[in-house]
Amino acid sequence: MREVESDPFSASRYCVSVTCSRDGRSHQISDVILADELMRGSSGMTALCGRTIVAAALSDPPGPPCPLCTAALELDRPRSRRT
Ligand SMILES: [Zn+2]
Repeated sequence: MREVESDPFSASRYCVSVTCSRDGRSHQISDVILADELMRGSSGMTALCGRTIVAAALSDPPGPPCPLCTAALELDRPRSRRT
């Protein structure tokens, strides 16, 4: 079982890449946010970059990665120690 963290927007948790039908980019969505939005039947979901996205059809090819979501993932990743 996975540990539950307090911050659902934290990029350190498991994220799913979802392509937005509006901008065609692949955004990173926390699994907790994704599950919550799907349960509520919401049409939009909040990506790590803060943008509310509308998921494209799963049959659509993935779009180019969102640079802000990519940056959020990089920033939240545990830093390796430089010696
Ligand atoms: Zn994004």
